[in-house]
Order: sequence, then C-alpha cells, then structure tokens
Amino acid sequence: MRQSSIAALRLVGMLIRPAAVAAALLAIQSSATTVAPAADPFTLTPIAPGVYAAIDGPAGRSGSNAGFVIGDDGVLVIDSFFDPEATKVLIADIRKLTPKPIRYVVNTHYHADHVAGDAVLRAAGAIIIAHRNVRGWVRTENLHLFGAHPSPRIAAMVTALPLPDVTIDHDLTIWLGKRKILIQPVLGHTGGDLIVTVPDAKTVYCGDILWRHVSPNIIDGDVASWLSTLAEMLHATDASDTTFVPGHGGVATARDVFDFQRYLGDLRALVSRDRDRGLSAKALIDAALPEFAQLHGDWGSFAYFAPLELGYMEDELAGRKRRPQSVVD
Ligand SMILES: [Zn+2]
Repeated sequence: MRQSSIAALRLVGMLIRPAAVAAALLAIQSSATTVAPAADPFTLTPIAPGVYAAIDGPAGRSGSNAGFVIGDDGVLVIDSFFDPEATKVLIADIRKLTPKPIRYVVNTHYHADHVAGDAVLRAAGAIIIAHRNVRGWVRTENLHLFGAHPSPRIAAMVTALPLPDVTIDHDLTIWLGKRKILIQPVLGHTGGDLIVTVPDAKTVYCGDILWRHVSPNIIDGDVASWLSTLAEMLHATDASDTTFVPGHGGVATARDVFDFQRYLGDLRALVSRDRDRGLSAKALIDAALPEFAQLHGDWGSFAYFAPLELGYMEDELAGRKRRPQSVVD
C-alpha cells in the first residue's frame, strides 16, 4: 500500500485496536523489502462439525473476528473483517472445506471492522443480512468513527460499503437444509446489533456484544441495556456448555461472558461513585482510572480504550451520550 493508505490506517485507530493499526502500518512499511508470504491474518478454529470461528491474529491484521457455518446446502458467514484481503483468505479457507455455495453473510453491526469485506462476499454470491439500522448507518455513522475529518480515502471506502440486502428488527431463522440458524437483535453495543446462534452446535456468534479479555469500544454503547443483554445470555439454560465467539479476543465460554459483564459493571460502578463525589470530565477519569486498571488493566488495549470508556460512561449516566439514531426505511 502507499503513503495515503498509511495515513488512512492511522485514522482507523479511532475504530479498531491500536495494535491492529500498528501491525498494518508495519506490514505496509516493510512491504517494499519483504517478499515472503505473510502468515494467515486470522486463526481458523473449528468449534463443532461445520462450525468455525476466524479469530483475528495477535497483530490484528483482520481488524475483528468472523466465522462461518456450513449447512446441508450452503454456507453462512458471520462478519467480513476490516481488511478485504483477510476476507479473501476466509473464502479460500471455506473452499478448502466445502464446494457448497456461500449464501449469506450476517453483519453483527455496522462498524467497518466487521463489514468492510462485505463486497468480497457479495461478489462470491452472498446475500448481506443486517439489522435494519445498519442500512441507514453503514455509510454515514462509520464516517463519524474516523474522527471529525476522515481522509478522502476513508470517506471513499465508507461511502462505497455495500448496503445490506435483507434487514431485520426481529428474530429471523435461516435453514441451511436441516441446520437451523437463529439471528436475533440485541441491545447494548450500537443499537443495531445481531447475534447468531447455531443451536445444534451450542454456539453463539456475539459480534461486539462480547469482548474476550480485550477492552471494548463503547463509542455507540448503552451500558445499561448491554448489561441486561449479557445477563440474558448467561441465564440461558445451556449457557454453561455454550461456545461464545466474541467480536474481539479468543473463543469464549460463559465464564468469559461473566468476566465481560463484570468489566462493564465495574466501569459503571466506578463512574457512578465518582459522579456522586462531584467529579466530572478529566478529574473523574484521573480519579477512576487507577482503580479501573487495578481491576482490569491486563485486558488488551486497556491503556487506549479505558479513558475513553470512562468518558462515555459519564456521558451515559449524565444523560448526554451521543448514540446513532434509529432510522426509518
Ligand atoms: Zn469490532
């Protein structure tokens, strides 16, 4: 990639993990002298027969996790990464496993680190399914994520993102032959999130409703409803033998859902307490951050995201959190 790409990727720091941006920059800067093929941008992890998680590598080259489910008569993909080159590797991996058509890609939410490979999957034959708000947000709210003045390159990328073909604001069941896949709207992360459950494999693809040992990006979040969603997931009867695929971090268990619930709960409790003490803005962040770090400072990207999270949490508790507004078709 060229210099303009490097500038664009620096802005991506607003959206995806700084480690991912650093890795991408390193890859770009060394590409002129390196000819050896790079390692896979993600680790393909089998969960059950025909059920796979694609977990972003430690360098963050894919931008997020993804996954896919092979049924009797086709394949359903969950999320498409930030880097379309990683999406092409995913398709090649699917092709090594099955010749069945790739029929669907489900976007768990609109953030570019989960949908920027959609065009590659659509070209491979997939219908794009998303929450109805994603159709209204994918080319607009994604610009907001890149700061006040997105570069022309980022603006061009975002405004060219495909719009979903099928939008839902209620549960949807997809049948891949005998294999049932349940797609459900959930609240908390953006206001337009879907989770994807494969009941016969006791697997739930959570998108960014779940972060495993990685500090979350809550720029669009509503922690109150997010905590309710996590509690519902944990109260499901088979939660203890369910595999949860998070949007970021490794394949997870109910214990990891519980840990993430505790992370958000601690965030809310600390900010609430310091607001009660009369603190706000920078003084509140300075007061809460050391204690927050004592509890969760070992989570990935904590140093980058935690101060932002404290600020967003204060906005939410003060009733002034900016969140994307639901759209009417
Ligand atoms: Zn994400």
